[in-house]
Amino acid sequence: SITLNHVAKHFGNKVAIADVDLKVEDGEFLVLLGPSGCGKSTLLRMLAGLETVTSGEIHLGGRRVDRLPPSARDMAFVFQSYALYPHMTVRRNIAFPLIMRQFKWWFHIPFLGGLAKRKIERSPAVRDLVEKTAKTLSLTEMLDRYPRTLSGGQRQRVALGRAMVRQPEVFLMDEPLSNLDAKLRSAMRAEITRLHQRVGGTFVYVTHDQVEAMTMGTRIALMRDGVIQQFGTPREIYTSPANTYVARFIGTPP
Ligand code: ATP
Ligand code: MG
Repeated sequence: SITLNHVAKHFGNKVAIADVDLKVEDGEFLVLLGPSGCGKSTLLRMLAGLETVTSGEIHLGGRRVDRLPPSARDMAFVFQSYALYPHMTVRRNIAFPLIMRQFKWWFHIPFLGGLAKRKIERSPAVRDLVEKTAKTLSLTEMLDRYPRTLSGGQRQRVALGRAMVRQPEVFLMDEPLSNLDAKLRSAMRAEITRLHQRVGGTFVYVTHDQVEAMTMGTRIALMRDGVIQQFGTPREIYTSPANTYVARFIGTPP
């Protein structure tokens, strides 16, 4: 589980996150929902370790992680702009976190480094995991292609694959679908929901889209100005909104 105790983030005088207490159970699909500027990305970045906490504590599975670097937290993240490596095949893009796990400084040396990376990529353990991941995401046919030859949705799946091969306990996603057109977005929504059902793990998913939150989340934390206004299942939030702000945002009929 992920536990946040009195977590706050200030940027100078600006309070981005006020005083958040939150508990996310294992296997949950938590959606952080709220309008632009309410602090969703800041909260997610603190979970990932990309942003320090001003005060408070974050625990992952009973271990305090808020002072640990991103690499020491068992979390993988997918962002809105899925930065794939253009000069690498889909296979290499997906395998990349596994290759970097065995990184040696001399991987930087052009020819030698290339050979070493290829050797890791072709080792049975890495190959199996990459191919299994590709199969889950229907990318098997595309493993030897380059990102520029893929559609937006296919690229997004590669980015998901790169997060999946790390087999993290926690997936963090910040508006991963906002660059896609409406049709692709709904297909990818279903894809991510299936991914969650298949691989288990805890997901924290940021969006400002109510429909996305209601259809994907097992729980929603609805935020405003750095404060969680309500935390509950989509049904709870829809049928018993905590205040008029929540009701308006979710669209509960008065
Ligand atoms: P959006 O939906 O637009 O992505 P968000 O909910 O993700 O919005 P955040 O990016 O978390 O919002 O920003 C929360 C607040 O903190 C905003 O007022 C923002 O301007 C401020 N903020 C974020 N990062 C910084 C920073 N590095 N320095 C100063 N202020 C920041
Ligand atoms: Mg954001």
